[in-house]
Amino acid sequence: LSTDSEVAKREAESISKKSLRSNAEKFEFQAEVSRLMDIIINSLYSNKDIFLRELISNASDALDKIRFLSLTDKEILGEGDNTKLEIQIKLDKANKILSIRDRGIGMTKEDLIKNLGTIAKSGTSAFVEKMQASGDFNLIGQFGVGFYSVYLVADYVEVISKHNDDKQYVWESKADGAFAVSEDTWNEPLGRGTEIRLHLREEAGEYLEESKLKELVKKYSEFINFPINLWASKE
Ligand code: ADP
Ligand code: MG
Repeated sequence: LSTDSEVAKREAESISKKSLRSNAEKFEFQAEVSRLMDIIINSLYSNKDIFLRELISNASDALDKIRFLSLTDKEILGEGDNTKLEIQIKLDKANKILSIRDRGIGMTKEDLIKNLGTIAKSGTSAFVEKMQASGDFNLIGQFGVGFYSVYLVADYVEVISKHNDDKQYVWESKADGAFAVSEDTWNEPLGRGTEIRLHLREEAGEYLEESKLKELVKKYSEFINFPINLWASKE
């Protein structure tokens, strides 16, 4: 466990410099994924709202997975808060961070590396081609690469995850061709599940407004079978 001062130092570092953890293992994105991210981060696409639909959909998939496993193995849910199959969205206005967390299946270290960067889905290049032709990101989820839409609104993203079979890890990237994965020793233990922290770009400030988020959650939660709670920091 890290000391309080280390935690404070790390937090200050992360927020001010948005710097990747220096002791983390570094990975390159698979080439097609890297191309896709370039397109997303440089796009002038105006309907950026869709990133939240993709994150809610991933959270819901992760909750579905743990719920399904719990049908045959009750122990798997654990106890206390871990049994709450819900999605939380948190606004940290002071630091311009939007987080979404679920108590779903979570990702092991290997899952983080494979699912978020090194293994391209078959739809990746198809989507890149489609994007270049139409410039429309709306169908991104159907190509199996919805996660990367976070870079429509964020320039630095952290994915903190805890799977029952592994320790808590953090994936982080500034969408510059590389990502880093390291054991997470400074954040609160998640128990189980995933927290995605979006460090919002300057021009994406609207996603720190409670009214905007409420409207989007209402719109995207229609077909989601889990409760979604919204928390906003006072300020
Ligand atoms: P898709 O959801 O179509 O598989 P995404 O790009 O949205 O594609 O997500 C990629 C993968 O990352 C998912 O298949 C899943 O394995 C993993 N993933 C993303 N978000 C989460 C989450 N909240 N919990 C667990 N795994 C996740
Ligand atoms: Mg998805």
